[in-house]
Amino acid sequence: MPNLTRRTFGLLAGAGASTLAMPYYARAQGKPRAVVIGGGAGGATAARYMAKDAGEDLDVTLIEANPKYTTCFFSNLYLGGYRDFNSITHGYDTLASNYGISIVNGMADAVDRDAREVVMADGSKVPYDRLIVAPGIDLIYDSVEGYSEEAAEIMPHAWKAGPQTQLLKAKLDAIENGQQIVMVTPPNPYRCPPGPYERASMMAHVLKEKGFTDAKIIIIDPKPNFSKQALFTEGWEKHYPGMIEWYGPDVHGGILSVSADSGEVETDFDTFRGDLVNVIPAQKAGMIAARTGLTNDTGFCPIDPKSMRSAADENIFVIGDASIAGDMPKSGFSANSQAKVAAMAVRGDLVGSKVFPAKYSNTCWSLIETNDGVKVGAQYAPTDEKIASTSKFISQTGEDAALRQATYEESVGWYKGITADIFGA
Ligand SMILES: Cc1cc2nc3c(=O)[nH]c(=O)nc-3n(C[C@H](O)[C@H](O)[C@H](O)COP(=O)(O)OP(=O)(O)OC[C@H]3O[C@@H](n4cnc5c(N)ncnc54)[C@H](O)[C@@H]3O)c2cc1C
Repeated sequence: MPNLTRRTFGLLAGAGASTLAMPYYARAQGKPRAVVIGGGAGGATAARYMAKDAGEDLDVTLIEANPKYTTCFFSNLYLGGYRDFNSITHGYDTLASNYGISIVNGMADAVDRDAREVVMADGSKVPYDRLIVAPGIDLIYDSVEGYSEEAAEIMPHAWKAGPQTQLLKAKLDAIENGQQIVMVTPPNPYRCPPGPYERASMMAHVLKEKGFTDAKIIIIDPKPNFSKQALFTEGWEKHYPGMIEWYGPDVHGGILSVSADSGEVETDFDTFRGDLVNVIPAQKAGMIAARTGLTNDTGFCPIDPKSMRSAADENIFVIGDASIAGDMPKSGFSANSQAKVAAMAVRGDLVGSKVFPAKYSNTCWSLIETNDGVKVGAQYAPTDEKIASTSKFISQTGEDAALRQATYEESVGWYKGITADIFGA
C-alpha cells in the first residue's frame, strides 16, 4: 500500500500535467472509454452524468457487483416502518436504456494500472482510458474483538444496506417489552455520521408504537461526542423518555469485546447484554481501492480536491465514501456531489469539454420521530490542502413542530430527487 506524501502527490500531479493538458483525448480506434467501479450513490451518478453530458462521444461502462442497489439512506426509515424495502431498492435498467451505459454485473477483482484494465473476478477484462473508483466502504470486522462476518449474522451491522438491513428489522420487530437493544457505534471516520443516532431513534419509535416503553436501547460509543448530539438528545428526552441511554468512553472506559453466543458487549466499566445487539465496526475504503494501490495508511484514498483525481494515478478518480474528502462527511449526498465533479473532469480529459471550478455540497437529514426531522449541511470548495467547508447550517434545538415537519418533508423530496439523479428517472 503506497504511503502518499504531499511530495509524491506533487510529483504525480506534475507528471500528469503534460498529458492532461491535451485538449482532446484522441484514441487510435473507437471512442474513449470511461469505466466506473461501483454503482452506488457516487458511481452510478458519475456514469449517468458522463453518459448524459458526453453523449455519443464517450463509451461509459458501469461495473457493479449486485443486480440491484438498496440505499443506506432511508434504510433507517425502513427500520422505523416509514418505508417498505422495495421503495429503497433501485435497478440499473434506466441507466442502460436511456443513457446507453454498459452495465457489467460482477465483482471487479483488480486493476492493472499499466495496461489500464479492470480485471473482473471471472477473469474477464474491462479496458479504460479513465477509471472512476466508487466502491464505498468495507467493514473492519476485527476492529471489535469477537466480531466477524459470521457474528454479523447474529449481531447485524446493517451498515451496507440489503439482507443485513432486513435481518436487523426482523430482530427489531421481535423485541418485547422490557427487553434491551445494545448498539456499538463506530469510531471516526465512518459513513453517515448521524446514521447510528437516527437508527436508535427509529428503533425507539417502533418500540414506543407498540407501547413497549420499558424496552431500552443502550448506545456504547467509542467517541466522546457525535453528530447533531444536542438535537438527538433533546428529541430522545421529548419522545422516548428513559428509553435511550448513550455511554461515551468516559463512562464505559473502552469497548473490550462482543460475544455473538451470549449477546454480550464487554466494556471496561460493565458487561451489557442485549436481546438484539447491533455492532457497527470501524470502516475503510472498499477492497478494490487498496488492491489498486489508491489508499494511504488511513485506509481511504487521497484525492486532488479540485477534481477527485486519485493522488496515486492520474487516470483514476476516487469518489464517495472511499475518498478522503476533507471536510465533507461520508454521505450519499456528498458522493453524488463529488461524482459530478469527477464526471466533468473525465469529460475534460477524454472529450475536451470545458471543466468548471469544483463546488461541492452536502445535507444530512435525520428523522427523530414522526414529522420531527433535523438536518445539518454545508457548501464546500477545494483549497490546495483539502475540500474545505465554506458555509454551514444546522437545525436548532427548540424549533417548532411546523419547521421540524417541513424539514422531514424536505428529506422525502430529497430522496425522490437524488435517487432519480443517481439512477435516472
Ligand atoms: C444507516 C445509514 C443511513 C444513511 N443515511 C444517509 C442519509 O440520510 N443521507 C446521505 O446522504 N447518506 C446517508 N448514508 C450514507 C450513504 O449511504 C453513503 O455515504 C453512500 O452510499 C456512499 O456512496 P458510495 O457511492 O461511496 O458507496 P455505495 O453507495 O456503498 O456504493 C458502492 C457500490 O460499489 C459496489 N462495489 C464495491 N466494490 C465493488 C467491486 N469490487 N466490484 C463491483 N462493485 C463493487 C457495491 O456493491 C455498491 O453498490 C447512510 C448510511 C447508512 C449506513
